[in-house]
Amino acid sequence: QQQSVTDVDVVVIGGGQAGLAAGYYLRRAGLRFVILDDQPAPGGAWPHTWPSLRLFSPAEFAALPGWPMPPWPDGFPPASHVISYLTAYEDRYDLPIERPVRVTGVHRDGQHLAVTANQRTWRARRVISATGTWQHPFWPIYPGAREFTGRQLHTVDYRRASDFTGTRVVIVGGGNSAAQLVAEISTEAATTWVTTRPPRFLPDDVDGRVLFRVASERAAAVAAGKPDPGGPASLGDIVMVPEVRDARERGVLRPLPMFDRLTREGVAWGDTVRHADAIVWATGFRPALTHLRPLRLREHDGTIAVTGTCAVKEPRLHLLGYGDWTGPGSATLLGVGRTAKAAVAQLALSD
Ligand code: FAD
Repeated sequence: QQQSVTDVDVVVIGGGQAGLAAGYYLRRAGLRFVILDDQPAPGGAWPHTWPSLRLFSPAEFAALPGWPMPPWPDGFPPASHVISYLTAYEDRYDLPIERPVRVTGVHRDGQHLAVTANQRTWRARRVISATGTWQHPFWPIYPGAREFTGRQLHTVDYRRASDFTGTRVVIVGGGNSAAQLVAEISTEAATTWVTTRPPRFLPDDVDGRVLFRVASERAAAVAAGKPDPGGPASLGDIVMVPEVRDARERGVLRPLPMFDRLTREGVAWGDTVRHADAIVWATGFRPALTHLRPLRLREHDGTIAVTGTCAVKEPRLHLLGYGDWTGPGSATLLGVGRTAKAAVAQLALSD
């Protein structure tokens, strides 16, 4: 079948918050671009999170460039509010998004990069990859994983606590998702929480606001050519949102060390077995970079070496979102604007 080829300045792969932030700055720079997203509707990963999920900071700390998220009157906004905001944001800036388009490969093509999806190709001078992590859940492998007769699921599969009413659930993971799932599932089920390292709980009065301030200070230092100062808190530390505080009051927020194997009936530490009906792996994500495989850029840790957002081994490619390795706070609503701005400035200059 004939391939149709479209020429543009920039292709953005992924239409979540990172792709939209890139679109905002590409529009301002007057570049010809397209955003390709494989979902049927706006929102990136947010429509796939569990419905009761709330942000860990108020709406004013969840702004994409240009237009703040409308306030949410009742504490921290839920995922549905984020989805409405991202939907309205696309319309407001009339971003050229094609959906659903699943990019399968990015290839070198002389002076250009060729982005392919089904029978279509976009030829671009620059590509911004902003495909997030949600499509690449990380499941660690433990002995006995196949023997366990109960249900195993990942954060991406979790919908609501009432799916577990009256059962015994083991929740694995030391981050915010795990803590929030323990808090929620423990209202319906007997939970056991296991972590490979002792989790780091933030003080009760520290929420996303403080984390964003720390991320901004780090970004400013790096931009000024100073060493990254790190910070007392990182975006992975557990924010004591009201539900997690409530779980602590109920005495269920007590992490055990990681079990060493799964058995038919549950999990085990040496001879000690704990029965479980389900195991929830809240063990995080890896960047979804399969489409970049033809460029052969991946390092051993699964990331791609970057200077700023620019791939070291393929300077026509920029990476946005994913994690702090593409810029402090790049995988957050507030933080991605800064890295998107820098990426577009860098790629516009390099033409
Ligand atoms: P995504 O939202 O995943 O968007 C990427 C898009 O690219 C998706 O639409 C995807 O389907 C598409 N895509 C992927 N591969 C392809 C392909 N090959 N071709 C075409 N399209 C493709 N951040 C905050 O700021 N505040 C919070 O309170 C907060 N809470 C969080 C709670 C949880 C449980 C999680 C998991 C994350 C949270 N985050 C929070 C982090 C962050 O905001 C999200 O991870 C965010 O979704 C990242 O945006 P993104 O645009 O980089 O990726």
